[in-house]
Parts: sequence; C-alpha cells; structure tokens
Amino acid sequence: MKIGFIGLGNMGAPMAKNLVAAGHEVTGFDTAGIVVEDAASAATAAEAAKGAEVVITMLPNGKILQAVADQVIPAMDTGALLLDCSTVDVDSARAAAEKAEAAGLMAVDAPVSGGIGGAAAGTLTFMAGGTDEGFAKAKPLFDIMGQKAVHCGASGAGQAAKICNNMILGITMIGTCEAFALADKLGLDRQKMFDVVSTSSGYSWTMNAYCPAPGVGPQSPADNDYKPGFASDLMLKDLRLSQQAAISADADTPMGQLAEALYATFVEDEDGSGRDFSAMLPRFEKRGRG
Ligand code: NAD
Repeated sequence: MKIGFIGLGNMGAPMAKNLVAAGHEVTGFDTAGIVVEDAASAATAAEAAKGAEVVITMLPNGKILQAVADQVIPAMDTGALLLDCSTVDVDSARAAAEKAEAAGLMAVDAPVSGGIGGAAAGTLTFMAGGTDEGFAKAKPLFDIMGQKAVHCGASGAGQAAKICNNMILGITMIGTCEAFALADKLGLDRQKMFDVVSTSSGYSWTMNAYCPAPGVGPQSPADNDYKPGFASDLMLKDLRLSQQAAISADADTPMGQLAEALYATFVEDEDGSGRDFSAMLPRFEKRGRG
C-alpha cells in the first residue's frame, strides 16, 4: 500500500518503520526534518499525501491535526483514508473527519495505548472511530503496528474511549498512591498492603500491574527511579482532554477535574515533569495534610 506518514516523532517514527518493514511504500514528513530509514521523504505534508491510499498522522495536538488536515485533504485522491493516530480532543477529531468526508475521503480517528515501547514492538492497541469501511481499510495497518484494534463507533469514538480510559487511569493512580502514603503513616508495611489490596476489592491495574511502590508487585517504573513509562506530562495532557470533552458534553466529572488539577500542580509547579505518572507516590509520601 502507498502510505503517507505525517509526524515522525517518538511514536510516529517507529510506527512508520514497522510499516516499511512489512513491505509498504511509505513517504514521511515531519516539520522537524526527521526521516525514517528506507522510507521516502517529502518536503511538505501535501507532497507526502499525494497519491497515497492511506495518510497517517501522529501529531502533538488537535490544533496541529486540523492544520495538517487542511493541507493534506486537497492533495488526497477520492476514496483514500485519513487515519489519525494522535491523541487529540474529540471536537478536533470530528472536525478533521467531517472535512475529509466532505472532500470524498474516508476518515478514522485511532489513538493508541502502549507508548513508545509498543510503537517500536508493533504491539499498540488502537481505539478507532469512523465508518465500517474506513475501519476495514485501516485494519491491516493496525495489525502491523499493533496487537489489538477496537472499532468503538463513529468519528470521535476512538478519542472518547482513550480519554475515558485515561481519566480512570489518572484517578486510580492517585487513589493508589494516596492509599500507600496513608498506609506508610499508619505503619503498615507496603508489601502487606500490596498482598491484601491486590487480591481485595481495592485492586486495580495501577496496583496489580503497575504498582507505584518500588520493590513491590511486578517490575514497574517505580523500580527504575520513576523514569517513564508513561510520563506525568502525557497524563496531564490526557486529563485536560477529558475535562475539555466533559465541559463540551456537559458531563459532571469531579474526580477527573481533581485529577487534572493534581497532575497540573505536579508537572508545572513541582518535580513531576519528565517523571512517570506513578511518581505521585513519592509526592504524597513527602506531604502532610497542611
Ligand atoms: P512527538 O512530539 O515525539 O512527535 C510529534 C511529531 O510531530 C514531532 O516530531 C513534530 O516535529 C511533528 N510535527 C509537529 N507539527 C507538525 C506538522 N505541522 N507537520 C508535520 N509534523 C509535525 O510526540 P509523540 O510522543 O510521538 O506523540 C504523538 C502523539 O501520540 C501525541 O498525540 C501523543 O499524545 C500520542 N501518544 C503518545 C504516547 C507516548 O508514550 N509518547 C502514547 C500514546 C499516545
């Protein structure tokens, strides 16, 4: 398949590399001048999109996605697919899809989970929004870049699934960390806390699979001095998107709002930037109620 790939950063470059390795003809473009080995390189986004059956975007935010969509849509052939894998706000995802469909193209939003490791290994999970036809066109590419793809519904449904999942993740991580910090102050051994909670009703992915306490539970970023993993900065981005969507949809999300505020303080006013999102535990550990 002839593929245009726009946005070759930490995620985009390894994803494009996997498509090249699978035998696809990839033309890449990134404003930072990044090139991918064995892929062709274009001078503009429109040039990368020209003649492609699928144009994949992997960009930082919705504003940039919309700008890039405006550049590539006129260059794409009727019936081609615009496949956005970035994490962006639901409204931008829907706006880009509407413009693409109005121009006779297919559009799918398919944000990912699995991070840089998953992008390199080709084991990402895709959460997709769009038509059945668009999803079917993208599916063979999902199978190369990932291990699972869920068709969540119409345009924007992929982004909705991603931010709802990550809102739960952020809230749960904070809950797990504050419970460990409370347990410390009550003199409860962390391993005992894990042994009980991980098999009791307080269990969760953050406790059982990604335990924020070093030396407890399976290997996690806590065992590597909280190097990400999933950086607090990215968690803050996703929590902000969840609250932007909640405002737009008039949904009451008090815990999501509080989680956003806590990660904003951690990243912007404290030492959270560049650290894994489980580094909330050492943050709480140092604090009292005041
Ligand atoms: P990144 O900043 O490393 O990559 C983004 C790339 O887009 C950069 O190389 C930048 O130069 C390029 N770019 C910016 N504007 C452009 C334009 N107008 N035209 C062409 N290229 C442009 O970010 P990343 O970590 O690769 O993340 C990409 C997306 O994936 C984000 O939306 C992010 O939220 C999401 N995501 C990231 C992770 C992760 O662990 N890094 C995990 C899941 C989802």
